[in-house]
Amino acid sequence: MKYGSLLACGALFSTAGLACLLAQHIIMERRQPSQHRAQSNKRFKRDMCEHEYVALIPMEELKPLRALLRRIHRQRGWSTQLAHLDAAWEQVVQEAQTLQGGAWHVGLCGEGALCSESLRKLSMVIDGVFLAGALQQRLLSFGKQPVGFRVVEEAPGPDDWISYFDEQHNQIVLRRHRWGLSCLDVSEERPMSCEGMICTTNLQVLAHTIAHEMVHALVYNFFPAIDASSEAYLPDERHGPIFKLLNKHLFGHTIDSFRQVFKIG
Ligand SMILES: [Zn+2]
Repeated sequence: MKYGSLLACGALFSTAGLACLLAQHIIMERRQPSQHRAQSNKRFKRDMCEHEYVALIPMEELKPLRALLRRIHRQRGWSTQLAHLDAAWEQVVQEAQTLQGGAWHVGLCGEGALCSESLRKLSMVIDGVFLAGALQQRLLSFGKQPVGFRVVEEAPGPDDWISYFDEQHNQIVLRRHRWGLSCLDVSEERPMSCEGMICTTNLQVLAHTIAHEMVHALVYNFFPAIDASSEAYLPDERHGPIFKLLNKHLFGHTIDSFRQVFKIG
């Protein structure tokens, strides 16, 4: 190759390189509002410990979340101490059995069990005890509808979910048959681990499940940009680092599933 053609080749490379850099710059500019940079480049895994998954949350997203947690912890008067958590969950179960809390029976049986109005009342109890009113009361104070509930009668199938948050209607949806005694029969003799918490009544399982969905509702209603596009929230069907952080520091939930706990006699 002659010297001249080498120069021409270099010029071509430089022009292509510049075009590439410009294109990258334009893409970065477009991404900036919704895609903040994480502090670590590890891939999210469900079994990560807190310092690992928190490092996956970009500082711009972490700051307002930490501010929310600080405000709630200050207002409720405690953060994540185990003794306070246990007492608070016990308070939820006690208040849920009052008329104002939905008049729930611990076994979830009886007339009117699992109706949307009782579920709304239970969510107000959880909102008061754990969130210092940061979801339901806050929506009401803004003149908006609080997060609603819908109980559906779909037949059992292979994809047998128990609940989910319906963003389109701002509702928590529960599948009725999954909450019947044939599916859920939790007691002292048959305890269950729900969200990492040991439950000995069906009502406790319901309360933890609703609290889980309230985390999704909180993000949807008050952090819409995170809900729409955060790479720290969306992984694992919206159970990524941001969900894990909030679920733990709001409710003491260390995992996001439930399973039967067998006693060894
Ligand atoms: Zn979820």
